[in-house]
Formats: sequence, structure tokens, C-alpha cells
Amino acid sequence: MKSIVIGSGFGGIAAALRLKAKNHYVTLIEKHPDLGGRARVFKKNGFTFDGGPTVITAPYLIEELFELFDKRPGDYIKLTPLKTWYRFIFEDGKKFDYSGDEDQMKKQIKEINEEDVKGYQELVKFTKKIFDKGFTELADVPFDKPLVMMKQLPALLKLKSYKSVYSLVSSYIKNEKLRRMLSMHPLLVGGNPFTTTSIYGLILYLEKKWGIHYSMGGTGNIINGLEKLMNEVGIELIKGHEVINIISSNNKIEGVKLDNQKEIEADNVVCNADPPAVYEKLLSKKKNSALFKWKQKRMEYSMGLFVYYFGTKKTYDDVEHHTIKFGDKYKEHLDDIFNKKKLNNDISYYLHRPSATDKSMAPKDHDCFYVLVPVPNNQSKIDWAIEGDKMKDLIIDKMEKALLPNLRENIVEDFYLTPDYFENELNTKYGSGFSIQPKFTQSAYFRFHNKSEICEGLYFVGAGTHPGAGVPGVLSSAKVLDKII
Ligand SMILES: Cc1cc2nc3c(=O)[nH]c(=O)nc-3n(C[C@H](O)[C@H](O)[C@H](O)COP(=O)(O)OP(=O)(O)OC[C@H]3O[C@@H](n4cnc5c(N)ncnc54)[C@H](O)[C@@H]3O)c2cc1C
Repeated sequence: MKSIVIGSGFGGIAAALRLKAKNHYVTLIEKHPDLGGRARVFKKNGFTFDGGPTVITAPYLIEELFELFDKRPGDYIKLTPLKTWYRFIFEDGKKFDYSGDEDQMKKQIKEINEEDVKGYQELVKFTKKIFDKGFTELADVPFDKPLVMMKQLPALLKLKSYKSVYSLVSSYIKNEKLRRMLSMHPLLVGGNPFTTTSIYGLILYLEKKWGIHYSMGGTGNIINGLEKLMNEVGIELIKGHEVINIISSNNKIEGVKLDNQKEIEADNVVCNADPPAVYEKLLSKKKNSALFKWKQKRMEYSMGLFVYYFGTKKTYDDVEHHTIKFGDKYKEHLDDIFNKKKLNNDISYYLHRPSATDKSMAPKDHDCFYVLVPVPNNQSKIDWAIEGDKMKDLIIDKMEKALLPNLRENIVEDFYLTPDYFENELNTKYGSGFSIQPKFTQSAYFRFHNKSEICEGLYFVGAGTHPGAGVPGVLSSAKVLDKII
């Protein structure tokens, strides 16, 4: 059996390895000269900037890819658990160190609002129930038939999946600061906490189950380890070439055509590239039924991301590895991003400082950072050639005031990525950061199917498919593939 995987994000690499373990002849094709997709790495003057994922959860999903071939993960990668998972900073300057230490968690919650301690414990218990169903039981189940979805509906209703994550959290927690903190998880997978189905409340428990890890040398080191493994087990890698057409005949896959006009035959094509872009650009349009076209049209896309990478000539030792800083008007700000699709100065941001844990990420006595700001996706028509520098200045001003004094004069290396990079380089529709949004009407059966309904031998893994975005999600999508191919 010959299988081609298009794209080398975490989902594509996991799919290639899982197919190889089933004795397929596997070719993985990546547009860029380097692997990783959203997890690519940018190295500049001694700084190592991980492009995307930094918070590593459910490490067993990575480790089992090595174990498929009887290899020891520790010979390829080194994952370290973090003590403080996130430092939250609120607009009034109050800090909260979020971790797996439940006593510390309750102590800090008590300081903010004593009556929320009990609610927090109840919330954790409820998210365990969601986790048991939504992750343990369903994350790697193929949802390509309506019956599979129908069977799950009663349980999902019992778990209040019709509620949003914010509304679920608010039913247990009274204080607005704590509500924001405990409902922010959808933002990690491209959703608005006010509209994302409460199934994604399972992330709160998933973090508690396995902790939050950091990959020494950066997340890129996991990609390097997986690339080494792919070479060892005989997966053919074609880098620096884009697939421009998926070839099929009588609704059956025959192969792909590359940008150098070369054609490669295959029995299966597994797309790790963003499904909406694949269906629109790589497949012949006449194959799509009216029902499928409607499904595509109704999809709502995740937010865009403005990511500013910078290195400083001094170290900011009191800044944690992961910091989340909330703006003032949270709900209104999210409404501007997701619905009104306009920029707003009252930004919330996530600051990554890997050199807090790993000195190899920056030159001696320097610090390495990226700051991620959710922004509207490119449905907004924002001209990033004009707005990019303004956004960078705004973020530096905000960080100088809240966290990094005299930042501007200490920056020695910097660059930024906007939704244009995600659209033009990573081929995602509207430059969305995480493909389609994780709403109830776009989850499981309602998401892009792992086994395409329009062509035999065509499959999908990655953020736009079941179960969804985030490294654990896309690695699980490759496990779904394992069951259906
Ligand atoms: C800034 C940022 C921070 C994040 N932080 C975290 C985090 O801390 N923790 C976490 O779990 N998740 C995080 N995520 C989400 C996570 O990174 C993604 O959901 C996940 O990595 C996506 O993987 P994927 O398998 O969908 O593929 P992608 O990473 O989207 O890769 C798809 C690949 O396909 C290639 N491609 C596309 N079209 C073609 C073509 N025609 N021919 C050849 N190749 C093609 C692209 O070049 C790309 O390499 C973050 C995402 C971003 C952007």
C-alpha cells in the first residue's frame, strides 16, 4: 500500500509514522525546506524561536510514536514538567500562579474570593467527567457517520455541551477574574470562550492529568527527534515542494502533482494541509456535492494570530516561562476579534520565555521571548503591511508597563508574523491560527471528516479535523486515521 502525506505538522508526521508502522510505503511532502508547520523554528543570531506550540500536554501521545518502532523516546527528546504552568496577570496588576499544586491553587483562589474555592473543586470534578467522555473515550473515534454522533448526543447533552466554556465555568465560579482564568482554554485551540462548546472544558482537566511540559531545546527539538525517527524507519521525505493538485479518477485517489510538475502515484493521500484550502484549491471542484459545498460555506474560522518574536540583551529573571496577561474588557475584546473582526487596543496576550527554563534558547545573559496576541483572521481585510508595525509598538508599550521595564532599548533581535503568514505560507484559509473554530456545530461529525466523504482514498489529519487543534488534538487525529485506513 502506498500512502502520501501532505504536510509536516505534528498531525502529518504522526500520520506518516502510524502508516509506516502498518507497513505502508510512506512519502511525506512538505512545502517548506524544514518540517513542523505551525511548530517550525526560526533561528537568529544565537536565539532559537519556536514558531508555535510551547505548552506541551499529554506527552504520552508524542512518546508512543517512538514506541511504535520499539525506540526509547528519551533517546530522541527530553520533556521536562514545569512547576508553574501559567502566571496570570490581571489589569489591576494582581497575579495568580496557576499550577498542579492544588493547595496553592485553593490558597490563591481564597485570596481572591473565598466562596469560589468550593466551586473550583466542583468545576474540576465536572471537567473530569467531560475529559473521561470527550478525550479518553472519543478523541480517537472516527466520526465519519451520523450514527456515531447520534449515539453520543444524550451523553453530550448530560455534560451540558450546549453551554459555552465561559458559561459552564460561571455556573461554578462567581469572581470575574477567576472566571476568565478558568475559561481561557478555548483560546489555546482557536475558540472564543464565550461560544466554544463546554466539551473543551476537558483541557482544564487534561492539564491536571499529565501536567504541563517543556521540550528542552524547544518544541522544535521534538520535530527534530521525529524527523530522525522518520529517516530511520524509511519514510521518504520530500521537502521544499508544494502539492499543487490531488489526482483522482472516478472519485478514487491516484496520486499528487508537485509544483515541479512531477506526479507521484499513491493508493491513499492523507492531507495534513488545512482541509478548507485542500478542498478549494487541490481537488477538482466538480467532485463536491451540494451538501458538502453548504457544509464548507457555513464554517466559522478561528481567530488570527499576531506573534512577535524578540530577544533581549538582558534577562528578565522575575518573568515566568508562560505568562497570560488579560486586558480590561475581555468579552468585548473577544467580540471584536471573533465577530466584528476589528482591531482593539485593549489587548490580552500570552508571553513565552523559554529561556526561563532552558538557557540554550538565547545567547549568554540574553533572554528569548515570543508574545502572541489574538487578532481577527483575514476575513477582516486588515492590511497588515500597515497595521503590523503599529501592533508591534502597542505590544511593546503594554509589556514595558506591565512586565518588561525598558524593553524597547533592550531588544537586539526581532520579527513578527501576522495572519498573512498563516494564509500565504501555511496555506490556511483566511490565515486562521487554528483552522475552523471549536464550536459544537463544528465538532466531531460536524468537523471536516478524517475520511473524506467525496473521494475514496482521501483522508485528513490535523487541526481542522476531529478532534481538533492543539498538539494533543492533531496527534489524536492521526490515531483516528490508524483506525480507518
Ligand atoms: C503561535 C501558536 C502557538 C500555539 N501554541 C500551542 C501550544 O502551546 N500547545 C499546543 O498544544 N498547541 C499550540 N498551538 C496549536 C498547534 O500548534 C497546532 O494546532 C498544531 O501544531 C497544528 O498541527 P497540524 O498537524 O494541524 O499541522 P500544521 O502545523 O498546520 O502543518 C501543516 C503543514 O502542511 C504544509 N502544507 C500546506 N499545504 C501544503 C501543500 N499544498 N503541499 C505541501 N505542504 C503543505 C504546511 O507548510 C505545514 O507545514 C499553537 C499554534 C500557534 C500558531
